[in-house]
Amino acid sequence: MNSSMIGKIEKAHRYANEPDRVRFKALETTISGDNDEYHVTLTPNGWECSCHTFQSHALETCSHVMAMQLMLGKMLKDDVRYSTQTEGEPL
Ligand SMILES: [Zn+2]
Repeated sequence: MNSSMIGKIEKAHRYANEPDRVRFKALETTISGDNDEYHVTLTPNGWECSCHTFQSHALETCSHVMAMQLMLGKMLKDDVRYSTQTEGEPL
């Protein structure tokens, strides 16, 4: 392996250990809940989930979206890290 590639791999490891360098702008996932599988997406307008709780808008969030927010943490912009809607400018 040449030294250029070794340098790139070292840099990749450093970046991978600094997740606040990353900002997810869009994301499409499935999450296996206790009873079913749900479709969770992050769009320029915020989060969406296919589960009944989210669709009913009773809480404006759900355990699936909250789980994604906890997992991704610093890799989300603050508005979609702490709420389900973006405020003002799209991502
Ligand atoms: Zn949900």
